Amino acid sequence: MDWPMTLQEALTVIAAQAEEVDRARVWPRRGLQALADAGVAGLTLPEAVGGQGASLPTMVEVLEQVGAACASTAMCYLMHLVAVASVAAKASEAQVRDWAPSWATGRRWATLAFSEPGTGAHFYRAEMQPEAADGGWVLQGTKSFVTSGAFADDYVVLTRSANPSSGLDVWVVPRTAPGVSFGGEWTGIGMAGNASVEMRLDRVPVRPDQRVGGEGAGEGIVFEVVAPYFLLGVAAVNVGIAKAAVEAARAHMQGRQHSHTHQALAEYPTLQTAVAELDVAVRSGQAVVREAAQRAASGAEDALLWVMAAKVHATDTAARVSDAALGLGGGRAYARRSPLERHWRDGHAGRIMAPTNATLLEWIGRTRLGLPLFA
Ligand SMILES: Cc1cc2nc3c(=O)[nH]c(=O)nc-3n(C[C@H](O)[C@H](O)[C@H](O)COP(=O)(O)OP(=O)(O)OC[C@H]3O[C@@H](n4cnc5c(N)ncnc54)[C@H](O)[C@@H]3O)c2cc1C
Repeated sequence: MDWPMTLQEALTVIAAQAEEVDRARVWPRRGLQALADAGVAGLTLPEAVGGQGASLPTMVEVLEQVGAACASTAMCYLMHLVAVASVAAKASEAQVRDWAPSWATGRRWATLAFSEPGTGAHFYRAEMQPEAADGGWVLQGTKSFVTSGAFADDYVVLTRSANPSSGLDVWVVPRTAPGVSFGGEWTGIGMAGNASVEMRLDRVPVRPDQRVGGEGAGEGIVFEVVAPYFLLGVAAVNVGIAKAAVEAARAHMQGRQHSHTHQALAEYPTLQTAVAELDVAVRSGQAVVREAAQRAASGAEDALLWVMAAKVHATDTAARVSDAALGLGGGRAYARRSPLERHWRDGHAGRIMAPTNATLLEWIGRTRLGLPLFA
C-alpha cells in the first residue's frame, strides 16, 4: 500500500503543531492523521490485517521520534499502539479480522480504559465487573484517566470476570455504545492534548464477541502484552522528551548572548559541561530502552527486569533532564509557552503513569530478591 506521507514528513507536521496542541489543550487529531498517512497507525498490528508487524525495537524508535516532536501526540499514539497490540495478540482470528483493518489505517483510533478511581495506580486490580443481562452482560462504573477519552473510537476496557475466580476480562467497547459517556476535563500540567478524562459506563451492553480472547484472558493481556508494549513505549516517549529538552537548551544557549561579554551562553565552559551531562543522560536512557526492547523481542529470560528498569530510567531521565534544561534557559525559559517549559511539564508525567516508578522499583527489588512480583 502507498501512503501519502513519509514518517519524516509526519514528524514535521507533528512538531509544527506541538505548541498549539499544548497551548489550546486540543486532542492532536492532525498529528495522528499524519501518522496514519505515513502508514504507521498499525505499527503493532500483524501485516496480514494491514498492519506493519513492527518489532518492539522498531516501535521504540518510532515512539522516541514522535515523543521528541510532540509529547501529547506521542501519548495518544502510544495508547493506540498498546491497545491494538493487546487485542491482536489474544483475540480470535475473527475478532482481529473485524477490528484490526480500521485500526491499521487510522480510520478508527483505540485506547486503553484500565484505570479506575478506586484502585488508582493498581489498574490491574479492576473492580468493574460485568453483570449478566439479556443473554449477555452490562458494564457499569467509571474508568479514570482514559487518554484520548471522548475522541478515540474504540476503548479496550479491563474488568474482573463475571465469574471472579476466572480473573480479568478485556472488552472492546465503541465510543458510540449505548450508556458510554465522558466526564471531566484533562487539567494535568503536561501532556496537555492527551485528553485523559473519565469514561462513564452506564449499563453498557457487551456481547461475548466483544470479549478479547475469552473469559479470564485479561491477566495474560495485561502482563504479557500491555506490560512490555506500554512500559517500553512510555520509556521511548520519555527519551524523546528528554532529547527535545536538550535540543531546546542547546538552541537557547547558542542564541542568547550577554552584552557585557559578547559571548553566547554556549561559550561558557560550565554550561558546556552541563549540556554534556544532559547529553550523556539521554544517550544512556536511549541505550537502556533499546536494549530492553531487544531483550523483550527475543524473549530473553531477564527481559521483564530490563523492561521495568527501562521505564524507571527513561522517565526519571526525562524529569531530571527537562528540569536541568529549563535551568540552562534561565529566567527567559521559565516562562509560559517557552519550549523548555513545555518539555519540563511533559517530562514529569511518565514517572507517575502506572505502573508508577515506585511500584516498578518494588517489583524489581522483589524479583531480584527471589520473591513473587506481588506481596
Ligand atoms: C498523562 C496520563 C495519561 C494516562 N492515560 C491512561 C490511559 O490511557 N488509560 C488508563 O487506564 N490509565 C491512564 N492513566 C492513569 C495512570 O496510569 C494511573 O492509573 C493514575 O495516574 C493513578 O493515579 P492516582 O492518583 O489514582 O494514583 P494512586 O493510586 O493514588 O497513587 C498515588 C501514589 O502512591 C503510590 N502508591 C500507590 N500504591 C502504593 C503502594 N501500595 N505502595 C507504595 N506506593 C504506592 C503511587 O506510586 C503513586 O505515586 C494516565 C495517567 C496520566 C498521568
